[in-house]
Amino acid sequence: MRTVIAEDRCSRCGQEGEDSFHVFYLCPTAKEIWSHLNFSWIFNNSYMDTWSWLTWVFSQGTNEQCRSFCCELWLIWTNRNKLLYENISNTSWDISKQIQSYIL
Ligand SMILES: [Zn+2]
Repeated sequence: MRTVIAEDRCSRCGQEGEDSFHVFYLCPTAKEIWSHLNFSWIFNNSYMDTWSWLTWVFSQGTNEQCRSFCCELWLIWTNRNKLLYENISNTSWDISKQIQSYIL
């Protein structure tokens, strides 16, 4: 996965150093989304970067979980861009619902 150049602060939580690892893994909003979707198991190991985390998730998940995981990453990223470029802010519950209906 391409590393996203840090813009400086995360537009959701205001923490510094917003990169892809922050958006998908460290950001409190992302953690809420994963927990709403019963994906808390992806935090069972602790990682320092996106690549080793993704590699581990794909080695642990079933095919179905890996497919859902990709949709989840995609919609978390889409919602991050909506907030950043269109100022459209969805809650972690909204995003979780979008993901669930997309997967269905
Ligand atoms: Zn954040």
